[in-house]
Amino acid sequence: MVATLETTRAHLGTRVGLHPEVEALPREPLERLQLQRLQACLCNAWDHVAWHRERLRSAGFTQAQDLRSLADLQRLPLMVKSDLRDHYPFGLFTRPVEQLARLHASSGTTGKPTVVGYTAQDLSTWADLMARSLYAAGARPGDVVHNAYGYGLFTGGLGAHDGATRLGAPVVPMSGGSTERQVTLIMDFGARVLCATPSYALAIAEVAEQQGVDLRKSALRVGLFGAEPWSEAMRLEVEARIGLRAVDIYGLSEIMGPGVACECEARNGLHGWEDHFLFEVIDPDSGAALPDGEAGELVITTLTKQALPMLRYRTRDITRLARAPCACGRTHVRILRVTGRNDDMLIIRGVNVYPSQIEAVLVGRPGIAPHYQLVLERHGALDHVSLEVEALPSVAPADYGRLAADAGHHIKSLVGITAEVHVMAPGTIARSQGKAVRVRDLRPKAQPAP
Ligand SMILES: [Zn+2]
Repeated sequence: MVATLETTRAHLGTRVGLHPEVEALPREPLERLQLQRLQACLCNAWDHVAWHRERLRSAGFTQAQDLRSLADLQRLPLMVKSDLRDHYPFGLFTRPVEQLARLHASSGTTGKPTVVGYTAQDLSTWADLMARSLYAAGARPGDVVHNAYGYGLFTGGLGAHDGATRLGAPVVPMSGGSTERQVTLIMDFGARVLCATPSYALAIAEVAEQQGVDLRKSALRVGLFGAEPWSEAMRLEVEARIGLRAVDIYGLSEIMGPGVACECEARNGLHGWEDHFLFEVIDPDSGAALPDGEAGELVITTLTKQALPMLRYRTRDITRLARAPCACGRTHVRILRVTGRNDDMLIIRGVNVYPSQIEAVLVGRPGIAPHYQLVLERHGALDHVSLEVEALPSVAPADYGRLAADAGHHIKSLVGITAEVHVMAPGTIARSQGKAVRVRDLRPKAQPAP
């Protein structure tokens, strides 16, 4: 059974968050704190990174102190991922690398990786925010945290790890893979909190079922799932299969790592931690700022990051912001669940489609397992979509054709595209051990102009 807000509040008491002095801070002092920190952040960037200084000068600043209000933020130019790549590896750092405490990197599909650096203070802030996120999700000191995020250059593993440690929760540093062993240790160690990508959580659930282990009878109470967009249908599926409360967490290495924002017990958007970040939504085409409530691209500015300040960074994630008070008592902005990444958006015969829309239709449909892959091809001049989905083990192969027709019909009417659906035997589609690969785009790439 999934706890309601009321029963969860009764269980947790009236305290607002791990850091109630900031999490419930009224908007006015919160915004004063933001302005102070933004000014300091801008000075740090101006003083130590020539590239920032030049861009700010081009935007009409004669000194960092020209920023007088939060509204002045709009005067700053936007940053994109390739800015980091163009200054590979350390060109946008404010400190010499020997003064840093850690480096992380994310591999791009093309070219050089994106490298991010942290001072000891940055790592401490990150641990605080991840601990705050774990607490908001319902984790408590003493809870065994089973951490199945990948350890390594990816920020997920170490980020969740340090946050659990800061919370005072014993952490099991599993990383991804060895799924049978994950199931055994979840049961034997009495894990109460699971950290993983949602697709990997599902892979763990599936292996447990194959082993005859009922995770719903485990001590698991809360799951923090992130690092890939996922649908409400997937949330219900994960909750039903594992028997925990599934909470959405958000982060990205360019800004910090996991723990930039997290759902609270109300699960009505993810609280973006505004004492350390500024959140805006812009029109992805024009770059113009959009009012709260309108969907667009999320842009984040770091307020306290020392080694790598990021000014108006375009995340590519499509979402909406809500600043109305939350039932939990926190005053920080709510980022409504990310529906997809701009980069993930597919244009299929002129229709804009996010893989998460397909997921929302498929997951939970009778007879169909929550594993799928989209294959895009070009047949002549036209896009051709095939969708591989798996049947549940209980479905007879004779019924696959009927299931396929049914799924195709719902995708046509709800998403607006025609897809050739193939229902496949259980276990056919590759399982992710980290971020799921949902799309194989085999369409020819546009040829560069000669
Ligand atoms: Zn809340």
